[in-house]
Amino acid sequence: MRTDSHNLAQSALEQAKKVITEHFGENYANPKQYAAKAKGAQEAHEAIRPTDLSARPEVIKKELDPKQFKLYDLIWKRTLASQMASAIFDQTTIDISATTNNQLPITNYQFRATGQVVKFDGFIKVYTEGRDEHEPPEEESRLPEMTEGEILKLIQLLPLQHFTEPSPRYTDATLIKALEAHGIGRPSTYAPTLATIQDRKYVEKLEKKYHPTEIGFLVNDMLVENFPEIVDIGFTSHIEEGLDDIAEGKKKWIPLVEEFYTPFKKHLIEKEATVEKLEEQTDIPCPTCGKKMVIKFGRMGKFLACPDLECKTTKPLPEEEAKIKELDEKTKDERCPLCGKDMTVRRGRFGYFLGCSNYPRCKGISKIWNKTGFKCPNCRAKATERDGEQSRTTKEALRQGSGRSDKKLIGEIVEKKSRGRGKVFYACTNYPDCNFLMNKKPESEEELQRVWQDWKANPPKIKKPRKSADN
Ligand SMILES: [Zn+2]
Ligand SMILES: [Zn+2]
Ligand SMILES: [Zn+2]
Repeated sequence: MRTDSHNLAQSALEQAKKVITEHFGENYANPKQYAAKAKGAQEAHEAIRPTDLSARPEVIKKELDPKQFKLYDLIWKRTLASQMASAIFDQTTIDISATTNNQLPITNYQFRATGQVVKFDGFIKVYTEGRDEHEPPEEESRLPEMTEGEILKLIQLLPLQHFTEPSPRYTDATLIKALEAHGIGRPSTYAPTLATIQDRKYVEKLEKKYHPTEIGFLVNDMLVENFPEIVDIGFTSHIEEGLDDIAEGKKKWIPLVEEFYTPFKKHLIEKEATVEKLEEQTDIPCPTCGKKMVIKFGRMGKFLACPDLECKTTKPLPEEEAKIKELDEKTKDERCPLCGKDMTVRRGRFGYFLGCSNYPRCKGISKIWNKTGFKCPNCRAKATERDGEQSRTTKEALRQGSGRSDKKLIGEIVEKKSRGRGKVFYACTNYPDCNFLMNKKPESEEELQRVWQDWKANPPKIKKPRKSADN
């Protein structure tokens, strides 16, 4: 099964028709096969659907836990709704005239309501899709059935002013929708695309919404100005189609790659010589030679550099220096995991981390965590268990002349972020040796114990988060 497939087995279509006719009437059934939305989506796989549509959610509810029920209910409803007739609405405008009652002079007011009147509910009988926030709430635009000349009763007057809103920022879902609509990328490349624009710091995700960063704007402007063809949607979509043809054996790959690469390579060499390097003047004097430093962009983001090519002095930006100082303060009690010496804050490709102050002689590093102040209950339990065993094995070992102990440190519960979606969760620093995690920030030892007991009683069957973008 694939989440991006729209394909349903013939037997499922037939059963859907039967179930719909039985419960809602024949006029509600409209079995159909949907074509794939995105090119290159795999038709061979079936969409996710209940194996037996006659098992209605209400009927099997008692067999399921609440989460299973919610999921089953959603899949059942969506599957069934997809095989039902369209809903029919009348687009209506209603003019309402009102007069002031107890006030003189008598004034006439005109109000207008535009909206929809449901003529036939069709699939809505089973399922209404959750709406995106930029769409008007459906209830608000739905009107009751009315006849001309009907006398209405005033219940409430709500003075409201509406403003035109800017188009909403992209979320994971709306960005994928846009990529799909333009034929850019394929189901297998959507997730890596979203991860890449974040890894390269072109966008930042705040409350699930993408915000372009300064470097994002700069890179975009530079590409649009100097490489218009590779950021052209039509061109990219054309290449994607060519790649599909190659995958299906309809085209040879060398001519297509040649068509793209030959002009691109020539263009790249030209531009390398002419495009200005991204540099910005500052008033900050170079600590070595006193010349005014410039801001440059490196792999790690912005930094200050001396314009004198002989001098070569570089240093972090003032705001970054402040950040490093703050992190230094926060991590002053951390010691090198290899040699026990002090650690210093450094910056790498993926942000700040701690490195041994004895570098390069010692290469000890550790992450800078947002700590919750709680020790991992799972590690603690494992350590206690091990201690029990160890007292036996240690005695045994001592007898055999080796007193080595392989006891591991107890992890701490720290804040982590899931890769891709950026969801915050709390987990053990000993991951992947210890995979205890919780969604909510622990507030007390009791709460932590309770969550851990639940976790232990019901170990997560879901896939472990493979990597986490830590901060
Ligand atoms: Zn200098
Ligand atoms: Zn060290
Ligand atoms: Zn742990």
